Amino acid sequence: MEKKNIFVLIQELETQMGHVHSELGGLKLVIKELLEENHRLSLENEQLRKILKREVAPAELENQVALQSVSPIKGEMQGEDVVGEGYDNLARLYHEGFHICNVYYGHLRTEGDCLFCLSFLNK
Ligand SMILES: [Zn+2]
Repeated sequence: MEKKNIFVLIQELETQMGHVHSELGGLKLVIKELLEENHRLSLENEQLRKILKREVAPAELENQVALQSVSPIKGEMQGEDVVGEGYDNLARLYHEGFHICNVYYGHLRTEGDCLFCLSFLNK
């Protein structure tokens, strides 16, 4: 192998290593952004689950208390009112973009309408 060729080869290698190095730097930036986004989404998810619990759980509790604490004749009417209210809450949640079906309950709807949710709403 001629001396000149070796120097050319080393020169080329050096250039390639420079490219690899800057690509590595770029990948590190992408990973950093993904980690930050993941963290942000985790926080948002946690927050949304808290809101869901706060909004849905009280409505279910109200249903039970109202059904238990009133006389049978009156209770039937009030019970229907409260059930209607619970239904409204669920319908509202659905229209805010969350699943209310047993399958994906509480998850964000990402692909438009959900047949499970709709069949639940139409009951
Ligand atoms: Zn659903």
